[in-house]
Amino acid sequence: MAAEAAHDGEGQMRSAGPPRERVYLHRPCGSLTEIGGSDFLRLANPFAAVSATICCGCGRAVPIREVDWADTRENVAAYRRRLRAAMPLGRRLFFRVLGYVVGALIGFVVGFGLGLLVLGRVGNGPWWLQVSGLIFGGTAAYGGLLLGGQLLPAPLMRILWGIDYRGEL
Ligand SMILES: [Zn+2]
Repeated sequence: MAAEAAHDGEGQMRSAGPPRERVYLHRPCGSLTEIGGSDFLRLANPFAAVSATICCGCGRAVPIREVDWADTRENVAAYRRRLRAAMPLGRRLFFRVLGYVVGALIGFVVGFGLGLLVLGRVGNGPWWLQVSGLIFGGTAAYGGLLLGGQLLPAPLMRILWGIDYRGEL
């Protein structure tokens, strides 16, 4: 059964899937760092907002423009620009805003609920027009927007559209 699952109709290996990790070089210090897991999924996906990544040599986050993929020698920031440019304009704009919009919506709904729970209803307005909910919701929407732009595009694109950039070189 495992052997069958490993081959598709074309006879190509499918069980391998995208690579699990990749190595990059921090040019200023010359150190190599292996990235894997959800960090790799995010860094490889050019629609996830990423400006910095960890360098093991420096022991801190460094700008991605200082970092090159060790196998192809391509700058990571340039790689991300190249893959974005390869996406047709309409889809590019859609995926650009996807994480921010979904994050803001989740933040608003969660914040609204929390605001009502914490402060309770004030006056006799309808529940959806409560100031407590709107203020908490607005604040949480902003946090959700920032976090969503970073954390949501890569997993959403993988789950909903099957787009996984970890296999891109
Ligand atoms: Zn470094």
